[in-house]
Amino acid sequence: MKCHVCGAYMHTTITDLPLKVTDKTVVVLKALPVWQCSNCREILIADSVMERVEELLAQVSEDAELEVLRFAA
Ligand SMILES: [Zn+2]
Repeated sequence: MKCHVCGAYMHTTITDLPLKVTDKTVVVLKALPVWQCSNCREILIADSVMERVEELLAQVSEDAELEVLRFAA
């Protein structure tokens, strides 16, 4: 996997990623498997992981301001 920003090698890692899903709602995804560029720190989420993320985000209450979800494949 090559970085689409700088072309450097990307490696897999596990990270916590905050996502702003609406104007007032932030979701923190814990232990998310991602690709990360070794050069510019760009993060890429694999399609299969993104599908699962979207399922998790669909369960988040619209009233929540901060929701912490643990990613489980
Ligand atoms: Zn890069």
